[in-house]
Amino acid sequence: MSERDLLMIPGPVEFHPEVMRALGAKTASHVSPEFISVFGRALGRLREVCLAPSAQPFVVAGSGTLAMEMAVANLVEPGERALVVNTGYFSDRMATVLERYGAEVVQARCAPGEVPDTEQVERLLADGRFKVMTVTHVDTSTGVRAPAEALVRVAGRHGVLSVVDGVCATAGEVFHQDAWGADVYLTASQKALGVPPGLALLTVSARAMAAWRARRTPVRSLYADFGEWLPIHEAYEAGRAAYFATPPVNLVYALDVSLGHLLREGMEARFERHRRTANAFRAAWRALGLRMLPVSESVAAHTLSALYYPEGVDASFVGRVREQGVVLAGGLHPELKTRYFRVGHMNEVSPSDVLATVGAVERALAGAGYRREPGAAVAAAQAHLLEGAR
Ligand SMILES: *Cc1c(COP(=O)(O)O)cnc(C)c1O
Repeated sequence: MSERDLLMIPGPVEFHPEVMRALGAKTASHVSPEFISVFGRALGRLREVCLAPSAQPFVVAGSGTLAMEMAVANLVEPGERALVVNTGYFSDRMATVLERYGAEVVQARCAPGEVPDTEQVERLLADGRFKVMTVTHVDTSTGVRAPAEALVRVAGRHGVLSVVDGVCATAGEVFHQDAWGADVYLTASQKALGVPPGLALLTVSARAMAAWRARRTPVRSLYADFGEWLPIHEAYEAGRAAYFATPPVNLVYALDVSLGHLLREGMEARFERHRRTANAFRAAWRALGLRMLPVSESVAAHTLSALYYPEGVDASFVGRVREQGVVLAGGLHPELKTRYFRVGHMNEVSPSDVLATVGAVERALAGAGYRREPGAAVAAAQAHLLEGAR
């Protein structure tokens, strides 16, 4: 990959130069006053980004999968029941994590590209004696966006803890954790939060913290235990140092810078910008006659596009786009892997990035023998971007 290539995969994404500079800064002691104030501020900013003023934030070194595992390890005891609202690969992974921790797992399933019916989920919750329900906000394997608000509210009505995997959604898709009553919103640094890979982040409601405190058995993982991290995070927010395991100092610097940018933009403005960007891409895909994997726009993510290859085009297409200077991702869902590709569009995607990406896709398609009116897709995206600018 050339340094000038545009990275348009569903994470890691393009990062702001100031965020990258924070990674290269001199590493301070993790118990120095400078670092304490940065970490404390970043924890507070995470609450604001998740619109969860009452939640307890956790930020630890690890990837999104660790954040999934932390939620499960702390909230589920062996033999307890969990309902997985399954929209693809990452929901399957959540079920695997739950099983590993001894949960009895029930899944609400659907065909790839669809979302399980909320009424069906409600029926399952009504007589299921579930402790937790998990939802993948955006399943990165299908580009499907689950109706997070409706699902979280239904779980709340039935006294079931809701765990929402926001790894491909947090800070890109509308989410109001406190207002909706979501119990855990979990994410990773490298997608819409705009920080290189390496951080697992969670915001946990008071209700979920109480459920953790009421456990009968110890959390089976030491590193993932809320009990180890809670005093540390509380200390840093109170301006004191504390040690359990060394925090990733430079990633925390980078997180603080990026969250500062996000909050300066404003969460509502940011959600709206992601929606506009996604709509500009959708206009381009329509102009090219490409079919999205999600069955309708109402369940399609704003953080990525998952698109079937047209007739006569195969998985070598992603390499052709790379030759045009734009890096896209292939398929991930096990049933459809070789039949579609994915374009990430989160964090700092500018109108110029949209046009560069659409232009590269158009040229690569033409190179693969799928010819359309040259520039038609670029024009469709441009028209949409100009409309948004008015
Ligand atoms: C990327 C992703 C994950 C996994 O995150 P890693 O950082 O790769 O461990 C989990 N869930 C969703 C929805 C994702 O998009």
